[in-house]
Amino acid sequence: MTAAPEFDYCVVGGGLQGCLLAHALAWHRPEATVLLLERADELCGNHTWSFHETDIAEEARSWFDPLVTHRWPGYRVRFPALSRRVAIAYATMTSDRLREATLSLSGGAGGPSRPGRFVVRTGESCEILSMNAVRIGGTADVSCRAVLDCRGRAEGRSPGGSGYQSFIGHEYQTARLWPAAEPTVMDVPLDQAAGFEFLYELPLGPDRVLLEYTRFHEEPACDPSRAAALISARLAEADAGSATLIRTERGCLPMPFTAAARGEGLSPAGGYAGGGYHAATGYSMPLAVRFAEIVAQACPDRIAAEVASAAAEDRLRRGFARFLNRLLFCLVKPAHRWKIFQRFYRVLPEARIARFYAHRFTFTDAARIIIGLPPIGLAPIRFARSFVSIPGPLPT
Ligand SMILES: Cc1cc2nc3c(=O)[nH]c(=O)nc-3n(C[C@H](O)[C@H](O)[C@H](O)COP(=O)(O)OP(=O)(O)OC[C@H]3O[C@@H](n4cnc5c(N)ncnc54)[C@H](O)[C@@H]3O)c2cc1C
Repeated sequence: MTAAPEFDYCVVGGGLQGCLLAHALAWHRPEATVLLLERADELCGNHTWSFHETDIAEEARSWFDPLVTHRWPGYRVRFPALSRRVAIAYATMTSDRLREATLSLSGGAGGPSRPGRFVVRTGESCEILSMNAVRIGGTADVSCRAVLDCRGRAEGRSPGGSGYQSFIGHEYQTARLWPAAEPTVMDVPLDQAAGFEFLYELPLGPDRVLLEYTRFHEEPACDPSRAAALISARLAEADAGSATLIRTERGCLPMPFTAAARGEGLSPAGGYAGGGYHAATGYSMPLAVRFAEIVAQACPDRIAAEVASAAAEDRLRRGFARFLNRLLFCLVKPAHRWKIFQRFYRVLPEARIARFYAHRFTFTDAARIIIGLPPIGLAPIRFARSFVSIPGPLPT
């Protein structure tokens, strides 16, 4: 006789995807037992995850909304020849909030909402043995009805080539009020000689702001002195008095040209491990929430089939997003990359922008993004040629 599995679900990886999945399971399957495994000493790392409110499906709102830390009715973008307010609600979740809320599911950090049913183990690396078994710390095997691979991105470069989005973010407390009430998602300086770079500004409170320098480049590198110069210039322009640095975050996201999922196929994979992120924008939230909903709503023995079917349905969009990366990094000179983004915000109405970020764009949206008269888009003939002339393998 086979022993009963010890847990209903084993979620391997306690980053954005793993923790969102834990909340979706707690909501949709309150009787289920869940083991969340994270190799680092604590869950979630050090992040500020932003998203468009239109990324989140109504059905996920009940468990998702309490995790949101900041909301704004819209945001701005500023380019050398365009300044626009985008009337799409924008929001942020901090890793501190997600960590605290996830621990509270197990009775930690002020719980206890699901003592005994939800177990978190940190500080040990795990190996996925099969769809129903995990090895923790190289020795202890745990059985379950479904293993979910949420281990994030594999180390090393993407096999099919990639550009990179690198960030250095500084969060400040200011002596006086911060002058802007809404985020500026791209503030693009005139000097773009070093490739596409911009400042990202999130007013997190009346006297608190996150200023993040972002660079799109062939190499995963940020110049800290360039970041410091742009951040200091914005602090001076804002004239909000002395600014005390209270937190720093930095990181680098590949913008791959080909499929870059890490999973070995042993178990259903979500988040970066399953290719479930927006390859062209770097935003993971829309697809991470969608994966969490699919898994939590499916019977454990149907999860693999449901996840595969959702990925198949999204295959062309994922391919298009990676194709955009290839165009951006292989066809457009670094000093001109900003024009692509300026055009995106100049020609697209809010509904198309929302669908693009939510990874729900249509064929017509894709065509509108890419085709137009140079220098604002690719002329049809150049577009057709670009499929065969740019370096690297075709998108899969
Ligand atoms: C600076 C920066 C800013 C960003 N801003 C945004 C944003 O505004 N909005 C947005 O949507 N996205 C943003 N992203 C992207 C987003 O952070 C990632 O795409 C997202 O974290 C991916 O989620 P994930 O759960 O797949 O991976 P991760 O969050 O990386 O989580 C994977 C987890 O698995 C753990 N793990 C790995 N291997 C094992 C193992 N063998 N055993 C146990 N645990 C393991 C890791 O330690 C990690 O905690 C940003 C990224 C960076 C770097």
